[in-house]
Amino acid sequence: MKQHIARVMVNLSLDRTFDYVVPNDLVKDATIGSMVRVPFGNSSRNGFIVGLPNFSKFDKLKAIQAVVSERALLPGPLLKLGEWMADYYCCSHEQAVHGLLPAVVRDQKIGKKKRKKVYLVDDIDLADILIALETRAPRQAVVVKFLVQRRSSALSRLLKTTGADHSVIKSMVKKGIVRVEEEVQERSPFSTEKIVRTQPLDLTSEQQAVFEQITKCIDAGGGEVVLISGVTGSGKTEVYLQAIAKCLDRGQEAIVLVPEIALTPQTIERFRGRFGDEISVLHSHLSAGERFDEWNKINEGRVKIAVGARSALFAPFQQLGLIVVDEEHETSYKQDSVPRYHARDVAVVRGKFENAVVVLGTATPSFESYYNTRVGKYVLARLTKRVDEQKMPRMEVVDMCNEAMASGRPQILSKRLISLTRNILEAGEQAMFFLNRRGYATQMQCTKCGYVAECEECSVNYTYHRKAEQLICHICGSVRRAPDKCPECKDAGIRYSGLGTEKVEAAVRKTFRNARVHRMDSDTMTRKESYKEVLTAFRVGEIDILIGTQMIAKGLHFPNVTLVGIIFADLTLNMPDFRAGERTFQLLVQVAGRAGRGDVQGRVVVQTYTPHHTVLTSALNHDFEAYYESEISSRMQLELPPYSHMLLIQFKGPEEAEASGAADLFRTDVASRLPEGMKMTPVRPSPILKKRGLFHYQILCYGKRIVSLSRIIKEIKSKSKLPKSVVISVDVDPYSMI
Ligand code: ADP
Ligand code: ZN
Repeated sequence: MKQHIARVMVNLSLDRTFDYVVPNDLVKDATIGSMVRVPFGNSSRNGFIVGLPNFSKFDKLKAIQAVVSERALLPGPLLKLGEWMADYYCCSHEQAVHGLLPAVVRDQKIGKKKRKKVYLVDDIDLADILIALETRAPRQAVVVKFLVQRRSSALSRLLKTTGADHSVIKSMVKKGIVRVEEEVQERSPFSTEKIVRTQPLDLTSEQQAVFEQITKCIDAGGGEVVLISGVTGSGKTEVYLQAIAKCLDRGQEAIVLVPEIALTPQTIERFRGRFGDEISVLHSHLSAGERFDEWNKINEGRVKIAVGARSALFAPFQQLGLIVVDEEHETSYKQDSVPRYHARDVAVVRGKFENAVVVLGTATPSFESYYNTRVGKYVLARLTKRVDEQKMPRMEVVDMCNEAMASGRPQILSKRLISLTRNILEAGEQAMFFLNRRGYATQMQCTKCGYVAECEECSVNYTYHRKAEQLICHICGSVRRAPDKCPECKDAGIRYSGLGTEKVEAAVRKTFRNARVHRMDSDTMTRKESYKEVLTAFRVGEIDILIGTQMIAKGLHFPNVTLVGIIFADLTLNMPDFRAGERTFQLLVQVAGRAGRGDVQGRVVVQTYTPHHTVLTSALNHDFEAYYESEISSRMQLELPPYSHMLLIQFKGPEEAEASGAADLFRTDVASRLPEGMKMTPVRPSPILKKRGLFHYQILCYGKRIVSLSRIIKEIKSKSKLPKSVVISVDVDPYSMI
């Protein structure tokens, strides 16, 4: 008789599969993508079936012990995507597949929530039974009366309300009066909210044109990528909604990716308003049970749309027609643990594999995506106007050097920002001040001996937090009490320099004594609800000036905010990263998008020490293309992305010499096999040498042939004999090189 064979990937990072025999009684359930239990070494392990080959080159195969999952967890094309990710992102196949499933599904530790329900048995003569019970078993009579009104009840509720115990119900089951059934109860993250349904809006002519560009791609059978470059408020979301509706009409499914920070109740509401219960939502605030159920809705084909952050990209749909990646430029789409994938880039690959159209939307395209429209890989679609014809906010740059010279010392708030703030406060409007650094001061220094407080575990200065009177390391989180004397020379002359949100708050409170001021950063947002509470207070007008880090920069709509202050634009501009300019441009435009969404035109004041920087001058006109043009030629000359791909190899260990020595050896191995056209830097200490007590060294490779290099590095990594204490990590297309 023919033997059934399954190729299984076990949950170890071995980067290989094993063949097993499928016992006859499991053949039906042992499908591709299902989780099975297999004997492995002296024990047993879980694994996924990744293939059902006709024969195996190995003999004496062991047999699968059990099929663990109720149904297949990973459709074939997703397994293929996992393979691609392993290859591209230089990780093991198992690590990549691991990333395709939410932990709750992968672990199979929790199951569906079931509850017992009690029903009155049909066709019984209730009147007779009641009369009989009233005298002989009054407690059973109470149960019957309770059930008569509602026919059925959850067992727990029934027991609680009637005071009956389990034995009462048991004997009633025996007598054939009631029956008890176990039912699945879905844990819904929405249960309490009711949906206000919305109808498709009449599209503006610009929106209509973009919609048609997308539908043309959908009708053509998919596989294309459309980049919507549309200013904030140009109605991108409405276009997404109508494109999704078009897919549903064709019997297809859709995925919408939104940055975690923008995955607010308002956003979810917009999708539920249009599509109701056809939506499943996946985000980090779900309980494990909710996440399990939301994911199962997709896997069982009960919903057609998945909305979520990064990992929603792996929703196990089988008829995928469309993937939307909103705010495609967001770096939070990049995962910073293995597999270190970028959800936008993997979305494009999934679209190709499954013939789905991929729509990328943003007001500030990433250089990579915009470049792809230039070379004809992506279709470019533009939305240049706000839907309500509202003017874009007016931006102005203030030169803080002048301010410092005029007053003899550096200022936190410029005269211009102060006077505009006075005006809007008088008019009863609101302002937002933005600075992407929390804390009070970034350096604590003794004016006498020059001592600077530095973290012992990391090569960075402590940040001073005044309210808490603490020094906090922003790398490892270590905390110590802020000293009132220099720990070295015991002098009391301590100077705090470098600006953080806490200091801005102090300056704002001092300048605008009657204004209601609130600060929003991860220091003040300590409870789960504080974010929502502060935003609600701001929305209803209980706060006049909201100061914050990037937490306040994105996706929030407050019609009464007419002024935005960017306190220190140089902070992002001077980051040691070739994307510093690009990031600053994005930040300015996004933050500016918060101003003037109501009837009044918004104003944005950008404070800087480099007022003539092209990033600032192009952001003033909201002109992405001008900025792109000014920057792209230097990217080309320096062979930086989008003209190349990068691959960062990091080595970390508790002994500096070991880490750098390992890096040198590794580099020699790579150098001998470096694909043509690829370049490699010497081994260098990372910009922050010591983090959490470990020394970091790195090598950066760049060029076009990233996949070949990735394969070579994976091979070298598997063979290399590094000291045990040194850990290597590889990041393909890195977004942080610190
Ligand atoms: P974006 O996502 O581009 O920032 P939104 O989709 O949030 O823009 O749209 C901004 C506002 O305009 C929303 O309140 C939306 O409901 C509204 N809107 C979008 N399209 C239309 C339309 N065709 N007609 C009327 N209002 C629209
Ligand atoms: Zn530290």
